[in-house]
Amino acid sequence: MQKIFKLSQPAVEALAAKYGTPLLVLSRDQIRYNYNFLAEHLPGVHIYYAMKANPDPRIIDELAGLGACFDVASDGEILALAQMGIAPERIVYANPVKTASGLAAARQTGVRKFTFDSESEIYKMAKAVPGGTVLLRVRVDNPHALVDLNKKFGAHPDEALRLLTIAREQGLDVAGLCFHVGSQSTDAGAYVDALAACRRIFDAAAKEGFNLRILDIGGGFPIPAIGMKVDAAAMMGQIRTALAQYFPNTEIWAEPGRFICGTAVNLITRVIGVQQRNGQQWYFLDEGLYGTFSGIIFDHWDFELETFKSEPKIPATFAGPSCDSLDVLFRDKLTPPLAMDDLILVPSCGSYTSASATVFNGFAKAPIIVWEEVKSEIANLANAC
Ligand SMILES: *Cc1c(COP(=O)(O)O)cnc(C)c1O
Repeated sequence: MQKIFKLSQPAVEALAAKYGTPLLVLSRDQIRYNYNFLAEHLPGVHIYYAMKANPDPRIIDELAGLGACFDVASDGEILALAQMGIAPERIVYANPVKTASGLAAARQTGVRKFTFDSESEIYKMAKAVPGGTVLLRVRVDNPHALVDLNKKFGAHPDEALRLLTIAREQGLDVAGLCFHVGSQSTDAGAYVDALAACRRIFDAAAKEGFNLRILDIGGGFPIPAIGMKVDAAAMMGQIRTALAQYFPNTEIWAEPGRFICGTAVNLITRVIGVQQRNGQQWYFLDEGLYGTFSGIIFDHWDFELETFKSEPKIPATFAGPSCDSLDVLFRDKLTPPLAMDDLILVPSCGSYTSASATVFNGFAKAPIIVWEEVKSEIANLANAC
C-alpha cells in the first residue's frame, strides 16, 4: 500500500493554534517517497516533474536533490528553475504551443528540449532555438481520465510522419514522441494503447530514415481519491511490461505532476459561519474556491474533508469566505454536524490547488509550511494540551 501524508488531530490543533488558518502543510518526506515509488516501479525511466501541478520551491529543491528533471510550460517556470540553479539539460519545455517570451527564456537559459504538435510550431522553434531537440506530441484518446488533455493537444497519428519530416527539414533534432493520457488516469489501458500506437509511428518513421530515440509517456499517474480505487503499483507494473515489449531500447521519460505532489500537502481550514437556509445546512470555511479549493473548478477534484467527528452524517453545503456567489465548494456533501471554529483537515491537497489559487477579494493565499521543519515542536505542543 502507498503511504500517504495525513496529519493527526492533535497535530492539526497544534498547527492551527500556532500558525492560524487556512494553512497548508507540505511533507518533503512524502515528496521523496512518491518520487522513489515511481522510480522503483518504473525503473530506468527519466522522471520530469511537471511543475505546473505545484511549483513550490521546497518541492523543486527536494526533487532536484533526488536527481529529478523538470517539465515546464512557460517563461516563468523556466526562469524560476534557472534561478534555483537547475541545469538546462534537466528541463523539457513541454508546452506544444509556446510563447515568444517562453522561447526567449529557453534560449537565454540554454533549455534545448521541446515538444510540439503542429506545423506552425516547427517554424517558431526552428527560428528561436535552431537545432533544438524536439518530441512530437501525439493524441491519445482516453475517456477514463479525470482531466482529458487530448481535446486540446496532440497531433493525430496519421499526421505524425508529415510533421516529423517538416521538423527534420527545418534543421531540428527530431528525437521522438510524447503523449499525455490525461490526468488522474486510473488504469494502465490508455498507456498501453498509446505505447502500441507510438511503436507503429516509430516503425513507420524508421522506414523514412528517422532514428527516433526518446519516448515521453507524460503524466497522468493517479493518487487515491474519493470513490476511486487506485492501485498505482499494479498500474505501473503493466506500463513497465508494455514498455519492455514495445520499447526495450528506447530512452523513456515520464512527466508526473499530481503523483509527486498530490499526497504531500494537507490543508487545515476552519468553520467561520454556520447557517440554516431553506432547511439546508450551510458551513462557511476560511478557505474557498478562489484559494486552495480552486482545484474543484480547474481540476474537477472532489476533496475529502476530515472532521475528526463520528456523529451520523448530514448533507450540507460548504462555502468559501469570499463575497462571490460562485464560491460554493460542495452541495449535499455528507458530513458530521459541525460547529463554529471547528477545524477541518483536507488531505491530499498538493496538486492543482495552491498552484491555481488567487488573491481574489483580498484573501491571501494560504501559507505553506514544511512539516518536517515544525513537527518536533508541534509534537511537544500537542502533548502539552
Ligand atoms: C499537466 C501536464 C503533466 C502532468 O500531469 P499529471 O496528470 O499531473 O501527472 C505532464 N505533462 C504535460 C505536458 C502536462 O501538461
